[in-house]
Amino acid sequence: MTTTLPRRFRDDVPPLHRPADDPVDVVCPACSGHATVRPWPDGGRRLSCRACAHVRDLPAGAPPCCRAVRLWLVTRCRGGELWALNERHLDLLERYVGAGLRERTAPGMSLVARLPAWIKAGRHRGDVLRGIARLRSMLDGPR
Ligand SMILES: [Zn+2]
Repeated sequence: MTTTLPRRFRDDVPPLHRPADDPVDVVCPACSGHATVRPWPDGGRRLSCRACAHVRDLPAGAPPCCRAVRLWLVTRCRGGELWALNERHLDLLERYVGAGLRERTAPGMSLVARLPAWIKAGRHRGDVLRGIARLRSMLDGPR
């Protein structure tokens, strides 16, 4: 997973600056392994890699780190990019798609409210759920 993401994908990624967010799964800029970005007490965020122990501090007020750090949970699906910030986001996606897209007002649904139309299209549900399963399997990699 080392390809550069298309512009549209980056624009779809919500800002990763909300302190209350869970750690975000990202690609390590040093070894391309599975790293996480989590809020840090100084108001910035810290990227740390499980594979190579690389650490990078992302200062408070820096441009959205999604422009410098790629998400780990990305897969091709129906010719588009299916992605998730972390396992919690994956759970939301799965519930949203699996429920036939009816849970628009459930807590946390704002995260998926701006999904691309091809994900929301009911006829693609099976493909999208298989894509979500692929992403989930990526969470179980080496730690
Ligand atoms: Zn690394």
